[in-house]
Amino acid sequence: MTHCVFPPPATVAIPVAGQRGLFPVRRVYCVGRNYEAHVREMGHDPDRSPPIFFCKPADSVLPVPAEGGVFPYPSRTGNCHHEIELVVALGRRGRDIPAARASEHIFGYAIGLDMTRRDLQRAAAQAGHPWEVGKAFDFSAPIGPIHPLDSTGPLRSGAITLNVQGEARQRSDLSQLIWSVDEMISELSTLFELHPGDLIFSGTPEGVGPVVRGDVMEGTVEGLGSLKVTVA
Ligand code: MN
Repeated sequence: MTHCVFPPPATVAIPVAGQRGLFPVRRVYCVGRNYEAHVREMGHDPDRSPPIFFCKPADSVLPVPAEGGVFPYPSRTGNCHHEIELVVALGRRGRDIPAARASEHIFGYAIGLDMTRRDLQRAAAQAGHPWEVGKAFDFSAPIGPIHPLDSTGPLRSGAITLNVQGEARQRSDLSQLIWSVDEMISELSTLFELHPGDLIFSGTPEGVGPVVRGDVMEGTVEGLGSLKVTVA
C-alpha cells in the first residue's frame, strides 16, 4: 500500500452555529469591487462589468470562535487593512448554476475579514503582477461560525458594519452589493465547478483602513451576530 511521505496537512474546519459538526473548507473564493462606494474609494469607476474573482488558500482561513480570536499582524507590510465581508458557504456541487437556483447551493453564511496587505497589493497591481502577496497570506481570512441557511433564510439585505477600537469604520447594507450573492455564485460557477466546502467572500463596503497591533476589530452582519478579532 502506498502512503504519503509525510502526514497530509489537516483540513481547516469552521464551527457551525447550533450544531456539533464542522464545515470543512475546500476553497476560498473572493469577489473584488462589489460595493459602489468602495470601488470609488479605491479609485475606480463602479459599473456592472463582470465581477473580479481571486482566491485565498484554504489554510489561510482563521476560524474565530464566538468569544473572539487573535489575528497575527502579517510580515512585510506597514499597511494591513480590514475588509469586513459577508461570506457564503456552499453545501452543494454545481457548475453553470442559474442565479434563480443559486440559493439551493448555499449551506450558510458567516462574517469574515478579507485582511489585505494594501501596500503589497497596490505595488503588485501597479506592476501588473498577481495579487497573492497582498491577499493570500497566512491567517488572512478570519471567519466566524457558519450560520446554516435554514436558520437565517436568504440574506439579501441587512446592515454590515465594522468597528475598530469602538470607532465606526465600515457601515453599509447587503442590498448595496453590485453583484448579488445569487449572481456571484452563478457567474463563479461558469469559471469553476463549485463544491461543498467552498467559501465565497462577497466583497467589502467602503471605509477600509489600516489596523495596528493591539486593535480590536468588531464586525457585524445583521442576522449573523458579531465577529471579534484582536490584532497581535
Ligand atoms: Mn475583499
